Amino acid sequence: MAKTKNNARWEDIVAAVAGSQRVLLVWHIRPDGDSVASAMAVARALRKMGKQALVVCPDTVPENLLFIAPPSEWARPEEVVGNFDHAVFLDCAGLDRIGPAQSLVENVGRIVNIDHHESNQRFGDLNYVDPGAAACVELAHRLIRDLGLEIDPQMATALYTGLTTDTGSFRFENTRAETLRFAADLVAGGANPALIGRQIWDNRTPGTLRLLHAALGTVGIDPSGRLAWIEVTAAMIAESAALPEDAEGLVEYPRSLRGVDIAVLFAVQEPGAVRCSLRGTSKVDVSLLAAQFGGGGHPRAAGCTIHDDWPRARELVLDSARKALEALPAEGDAAR
Ligand code: 5GP
Ligand code: MN
Repeated sequence: MAKTKNNARWEDIVAAVAGSQRVLLVWHIRPDGDSVASAMAVARALRKMGKQALVVCPDTVPENLLFIAPPSEWARPEEVVGNFDHAVFLDCAGLDRIGPAQSLVENVGRIVNIDHHESNQRFGDLNYVDPGAAACVELAHRLIRDLGLEIDPQMATALYTGLTTDTGSFRFENTRAETLRFAADLVAGGANPALIGRQIWDNRTPGTLRLLHAALGTVGIDPSGRLAWIEVTAAMIAESAALPEDAEGLVEYPRSLRGVDIAVLFAVQEPGAVRCSLRGTSKVDVSLLAAQFGGGGHPRAAGCTIHDDWPRARELVLDSARKALEALPAEGDAAR
């Protein structure tokens, strides 16, 4: 398998997908808006071209994304039968991120890996990684267009969803003029921002709100004021009658504190494993922090899983975060 850091030529990516017949698309575990949207839009395009396209989910799809990914349009790994000539990965930094779907991919003829994570492990036979893309949906859109298809309202809705989730409603640093132009094109093509916004952001269950209430009580702030965190334990999830995925996004609360440069969410994953979501400002690269613990992601948003007991895992990450902050210039008026 090719492991070079060099990108394949984009024309070769398009030609490979155009020449495919039976295509497997796989989400990473804990799929987010960008990965779900990218695969749903590309799968729809491939089906319109008369190809078979099967989206496989190695995990549960968050409820607030089911409006772009109804369960009838994807399968669980154990439901998949037959062979595929191509697997197309979108928004997936490494093969280790697809969990139980790995065995499915072993027999696939060719892997096409399209992503925007700098840390992508180039696991495909053809790799195309563009860290300049705000979201992978930008690359999905380019692929659909270069396959010669029009974006229909359903694709536009999915693509806009990926764009708005990966840019935090167009307010993170990856939001550029072309990001907003792309969003405008999607709206013109049938995406409804208010409807999508409601589905994504204003779709909480009472359990999620109870979990938020409990989690806010755990917020910790380092004496420096530059590091803050929030915790979600299994007991908190049970007492709130919430779901583990309801912890998604809670890192936004410590991140929103004035002066914070690194924010961390510690969340239960399975007994003996603590899931960390890391967020940073322009001053720090949290993907380097995540990489110290076998994870990865983007400079401003990354994650890792630590197989250790809770207090030890927390102190390990907080210590590394403090060291990263100590290596930076003192707090000034620099742009956040
Ligand atoms: P989140 O904190 O929202 O789960 O993830 C933030 C970003 O980091 C996403 O782009 C996600 O793909 C990436 N990420 C999260 N966890 C991991 C991990 O364990 N390994 C790698 N390579 N990337 C991760
Ligand atoms: Mn993404």
